[in-house]
Amino acid sequence: MGSLLIAGGTVVTLGSRNRVLPDHAVFCQDGVISRIAPRSELTVLADSTIDARGKVVVPGFINAHTHFYSTLVRGLTKAEPAAGFQEVLEHLWWRLDRALEPEDCQLSALIALIEAIRHGTTTLVDHHASPHAARGSLDALAGAVTRVGVRASLCYEVSDRDGAAVAANGLAENVAFLQRCAREPDPHLRALFGLHAAFTLSDATLERAAAEARRLGAGFHIHVAEAASDQEHSLATHGVRVVERLNRLGVLGPRTIAAHCVHVDEHEMDRLAATGTAVAHCPQSNMNNAVGVADVPAMIARGVVVGLGTDAMTENMLEELRAALWVRHLAAGDPSAGFTETLATLVANNAAIADRLWPGLGLGELREGGGADVVLVDYQPPTPLDETTFAGHLVFGLSQACVDTTIVAGRVLMAGKQLRLDLDEAELAARARERSRALWERF
Ligand SMILES: [Zn+2]
Repeated sequence: MGSLLIAGGTVVTLGSRNRVLPDHAVFCQDGVISRIAPRSELTVLADSTIDARGKVVVPGFINAHTHFYSTLVRGLTKAEPAAGFQEVLEHLWWRLDRALEPEDCQLSALIALIEAIRHGTTTLVDHHASPHAARGSLDALAGAVTRVGVRASLCYEVSDRDGAAVAANGLAENVAFLQRCAREPDPHLRALFGLHAAFTLSDATLERAAAEARRLGAGFHIHVAEAASDQEHSLATHGVRVVERLNRLGVLGPRTIAAHCVHVDEHEMDRLAATGTAVAHCPQSNMNNAVGVADVPAMIARGVVVGLGTDAMTENMLEELRAALWVRHLAAGDPSAGFTETLATLVANNAAIADRLWPGLGLGELREGGGADVVLVDYQPPTPLDETTFAGHLVFGLSQACVDTTIVAGRVLMAGKQLRLDLDEAELAARARERSRALWERF
């Protein structure tokens, strides 16, 4: 893999003790950061060198919840307007996912991952659905991840909504991919056991999934209380709230990611905290679907690890962070509400979630011995930039700046805003337009 020297930028380490280090250098060897030091002291001979002067050097961003498969929906006008969240699913997403074929899934992933590289997002936790092309779908996505060179955790969302045979295929797909990841360890790939949401899963299916996941030592990735209707369904059908039901059936735990958690009460927050279950907050999606605003500060105060996901609204984590801040202020009627907690979702808590999947790699932080996932942003700070001011620069400055270079595990995936990938982006987009025309016909 060789060595790479990133020389001369302002290095922002993030991590538990964020340091802002002007005119520093980062030396990467064999996919790992071997040294961070002042540029003048780091005069090693590297296989290649990147001039980072005039740039801010940050760890690659992490997206704790997304769906690659939604890429080809852009501009689709056939879906009837939805009156509520259930209709968003019925009119759009469940019609789309039923029409997906294997090549659509792979193209969707490739394009989403290229967008991630362009925005400095280097680790993604995906949640996949293609009910009539479930088997082999995670291998297809993994192929895209490997080809592009980012890191991703994949899962297939099991659901009873399309009948028993499709549910069985979904269970089998998770098992097969978890077994593949155990058999053929790959630093870029991780697996979770995917579940759609409590309201489309019977107790019997959840029990089967829990038994398989226990056997394989896997955590789950599931949508939880995204809309109030998930709670109404749970109470009416099972007599308990969603988090309680999932806990009884063995779905919660420190390896599980619960996306959304907009409609959880205080007991459920305590249960999420006690079980160590992580939450992925997805504010742009929640606003778009008009389902409500998750109470992130309350969850964090109760000890829940709340990270930040985009639910495929964007691959730009700083855009999602800004949306998270503004909606928190608006929901609280307080322009100072939840700044620290919201910032922590992206910076500290996504790193904690990534650490559960890639233990010890220090993703989300630049540190010696950690994974060399590094992003260079064009940014000349117009006000003092140091540890005390960094948050303001992140939200108001870096978020508006261009990502210049994206590096994952020491491999340069984009430099000077040019992709360095073994694929033709224009050709890929042309093929995707062709496939999406056919997909929209089947929709
Ligand atoms: Zn989602």
